[in-house]
Amino acid sequence: MNTPAHDAEFIARLRAILGANHVLTEAQDIAPHLVEARHLARGSAIAVVRPGTTAEVAQVVKACHAAHVPMVAHGGNTGLVGGGVPFGGVVIALNRLKAIRDVDAGNSTMTVEAGVVLADIQRTAVDAGFLYPVSLASEGSCTIGGNIATNAGGTAVLRYGNTRDLVLGLEAVLPDGSIWNGLSGLRKDNAGYDLKHLFIGSEGTLGIVTAAVLKLFPAPKSRLTAFAGADGPREIVALFERLRAAAGEMLTTFEIIPRFGLELVLRHSPSARDPFASPFASYALLELTSPNAEAPLEALLLDIFEKALEAGEIGDATLAASRAQGDAFWHIREGLAEFQKHEGASIKHDVSVPISRVADFLIETIALCEAELTGIRPCAFGHIGDGNIHFNLTQPSGMEPQAFLAQWHHFNRIVHDQVAARGGSVAAEHGVGLFKRDELPHYKDPVALQLMATIKRAMDPQNLMNPGKVIAIGDDLPMFNPGG
Ligand SMILES: Cc1cc2nc3c(=O)[nH]c(=O)nc-3n(C[C@H](O)[C@H](O)[C@H](O)COP(=O)(O)OP(=O)(O)OC[C@H]3O[C@@H](n4cnc5c(N)ncnc54)[C@H](O)[C@@H]3O)c2cc1C
Repeated sequence: MNTPAHDAEFIARLRAILGANHVLTEAQDIAPHLVEARHLARGSAIAVVRPGTTAEVAQVVKACHAAHVPMVAHGGNTGLVGGGVPFGGVVIALNRLKAIRDVDAGNSTMTVEAGVVLADIQRTAVDAGFLYPVSLASEGSCTIGGNIATNAGGTAVLRYGNTRDLVLGLEAVLPDGSIWNGLSGLRKDNAGYDLKHLFIGSEGTLGIVTAAVLKLFPAPKSRLTAFAGADGPREIVALFERLRAAAGEMLTTFEIIPRFGLELVLRHSPSARDPFASPFASYALLELTSPNAEAPLEALLLDIFEKALEAGEIGDATLAASRAQGDAFWHIREGLAEFQKHEGASIKHDVSVPISRVADFLIETIALCEAELTGIRPCAFGHIGDGNIHFNLTQPSGMEPQAFLAQWHHFNRIVHDQVAARGGSVAAEHGVGLFKRDELPHYKDPVALQLMATIKRAMDPQNLMNPGKVIAIGDDLPMFNPGG
């Protein structure tokens, strides 16, 4: 048990390593680091530290290790599963590790430090004539370290894969403070276990990512964004299959938006317009891109839409005539999570099922939720081309938000059982963190869970790296309970 005297001694040690300016202990300074993006969970910390180099991260971790103090890494703190909420100990904020160490045009790679904001990486890639394809609504504030720790997805996974597919090498500080230098830019390297994959997606529970080598791609020279309206998810999936067959890798994005989602954006965003004169049950936002400036994207898409109309898959479709119109379509998609907030509380699920089963999943699970609670407003949207749906449930109008949130676990069970019945995952792209930790034992293979615990214990025997997140080890944090 730490006493205030122990804490003061420990803080003095951190100040000796980093200088007083980079060890924050005042309540107002550490407050933003104690809550997660949706304010569903709040924690505590004795300090927030801001190391400026990998060597400083290592010294801080060594000090925490020696004093048995838990550590939680922070990037932009935009995570959506409570993974960054500290419960005691120290927050290690990586934002000062913001150097872009190298752009190797011949190898199509960029070496970056963990605290670089995703939008800065995208811009640097563009300036060098490349594309770094991860794109998220939080890209202006999330960091590459956080993207790697959560294996972030986004809207271009269909074409380029998740963050895991884009990382060639890593540098990380291990729980005992040693530095692993795996900053390789190789596309082939079978010299033993591929250790970087332990850190990618492990949400800071096995070590702290300090730098990475990222893959770059040829910059798109032509782009076409379009919006289509259909009678429901089955028709949207049929359109997706048609597009995938005809456009191949040129199909970069394929997102589903329900009518309720579009209505939310129209209601709360003065600049938003309905792309069609009549309403449809479901919409697709899609984008084709090519590194060839002359690629005949418009002719190809018009032909696909004509055939989809004839087959009854869509009722209408519109191609963005300008970048501004394309941005207006994207504004609808990106506003969905934001504008849901204006309608009260939401119970959110980030799940995936095989694409072949995603339409059945949507139709049947929406019906189950509607039968369970009169007036509930499902807003199931997202990356349907990856089988990844943000299955969000908005509270009935007029209901007390806390009363709705008290049903969090009840609706989790309904939705996640449907996911599991179709061979899906209850944590598709946001991670497990705190909010889903206690769902894993219901749905994940027990041998896989045991192996995860074995790895965690081997790498972090004192359970100091983000304890209580992803997997419960020993006497961990209590179960997440947003309803109070
Ligand atoms: C509006 C909005 C839209 C979003 N859209 C998407 C989306 O489309 N797809 C998607 O995948 N996610 C999305 N997210 C979730 C979030 O943005 C991503 O998970 C992002 O990658 C987190 O980055 P961050 O720097 O904010 O990480 P943080 O929130 O700071 O941390 C997230 C987790 O990673 C750990 N961590 C952070 N940095 C490090 C590090 N250097 N080393 C080890 N562990 C670390 C933390 O301890 C925590 O467990 C969205 C979030 C918001 C708010």
